[in-house]
Amino acid sequence: MSLHQDLIERDRKVTFHASTHLRNFAQGDLPGRVITGGKGIHIVDKDGREFIDGFAGLYCVNIGYGRTEVAEAIYQQALELSYYHTYVGHSNEPQIALSEKILELYGPGMSKVYYGMSGSDANETQLKIVRYYNNVLGRPQKKKVISRMRGYHGSGIASGSLTGLKAFHDHFDLPIDTIRHTEAPFYYHRAAELEGTTEREFSKHCAAKLEEMIQTEGPDTVAAFIGEPVLGTGGIVPPPEGYWAEIQTVLAKYDILLIADEVVCGFGRIGTGFGSHFYGIKPDLITVAKGLTSAYQPLSGVIVGDRVWQVLEQGTGEYGPIGHGWTYSGHALGCAAGLANLAIIEREGLTQNAAETGAYLQQQLQAAFGDHPIVGQVRGVGMLAAVEFSADPTNRVHFDPALKVGPRIAAAAMQENLIARAMPQGDILGFAPPLITSRAEVDEIVTRARRAVDSVLDELAVSGDVQAA
Ligand SMILES: *Cc1c(COP(=O)(O)O)cnc(C)c1O
Repeated sequence: MSLHQDLIERDRKVTFHASTHLRNFAQGDLPGRVITGGKGIHIVDKDGREFIDGFAGLYCVNIGYGRTEVAEAIYQQALELSYYHTYVGHSNEPQIALSEKILELYGPGMSKVYYGMSGSDANETQLKIVRYYNNVLGRPQKKKVISRMRGYHGSGIASGSLTGLKAFHDHFDLPIDTIRHTEAPFYYHRAAELEGTTEREFSKHCAAKLEEMIQTEGPDTVAAFIGEPVLGTGGIVPPPEGYWAEIQTVLAKYDILLIADEVVCGFGRIGTGFGSHFYGIKPDLITVAKGLTSAYQPLSGVIVGDRVWQVLEQGTGEYGPIGHGWTYSGHALGCAAGLANLAIIEREGLTQNAAETGAYLQQQLQAAFGDHPIVGQVRGVGMLAAVEFSADPTNRVHFDPALKVGPRIAAAAMQENLIARAMPQGDILGFAPPLITSRAEVDEIVTRARRAVDSVLDELAVSGDVQAA
């Protein structure tokens, strides 16, 4: 029980928490926690208990906690101008500088940046752009968007429809009817009938499934494909070998736009500026958020490629000003935070650290869990990794979901003062530490994770759910 139980009880009475068992929380069956501070890769709660944050918040606090330089940048901007809208050509200096910086970091092919406050709203913008684009081009029937099962693209009506996770659809009447989901690029979870296929063959299979869907729907009705370079919330799954090349060949054949959802991968997480650079993806549109400000302010962006931009300009030539805008688009405090964050990433070489210390993280997780009796797979890239649990690793047999192995392991990690995330679909423990994480800190993360997994293994042996080792 917290030393500040009164605070938690007040919270129970008044706050509707995101992704929470509302009744359990309201009735006190789910413990609350009030976070009060953080420094580096650690956070501290109101009771003074310190945790290693092995998931950087929700894979967003890439520069770590307590960076006063960013706080200072926000403060200085607030003294000058916190906000003025960016409609009808109005701007502010941080917005101009941030757009220049983002386009410079991405490299050739991208033309403009539109700002929002969240990854979800940025993907709503993407869907509006895609519709507008095809209307301007006189193809009003070309409107469907294909996403992937296990994709994560947000939590709104449309962005939540793009998401390919059951919990985000059930009881919300989603997905909406212009959105489809194709095969997840999840080699470890490939179907039994694909046993024996190589990764390359599996990538071809995914591309063939996509093409089949495009044919079934009618190529003239499919406008865009959206995907994360590395599946994130859907299980932290790097694509199988050759996947993005295969997919892009199909998209090009049917004149389908490619939206790269770089909300997690963007700005260094996997050791390159963008995930698209890592996998040779050539998107028409890019979504960014989380790592853009390291969550010091809410800010997202839609990066519009040259090809689409031409059409947007053409459209307003025909129809007048574009009917799309958020009150807070290009918010000066968000843009100031983004600039300060990107300056730190550049100055401290954090993308490089994500590549190097990230490789060390993968190696140490592999060493700790590669042969573990309840681990089916250790996977990841850069500072993004997952350990997937299995009742029978040799035969890729999943645990009975009712055993809640993943959540129990995450809870055991909390006992070790380590935050690692139980991913929502499957028994998967995710790691996405801040990009500042050192090798010594990786060692500490892996040591604590190993203790947590072993403690749950012991419980499972006692309950008879696994054979005692
Ligand atoms: C988190 C996330 C989003 C949604 O961002 P929010 O800020 O939570 O709305 C979209 N896409 C990806 C890949 C994400 O990880």
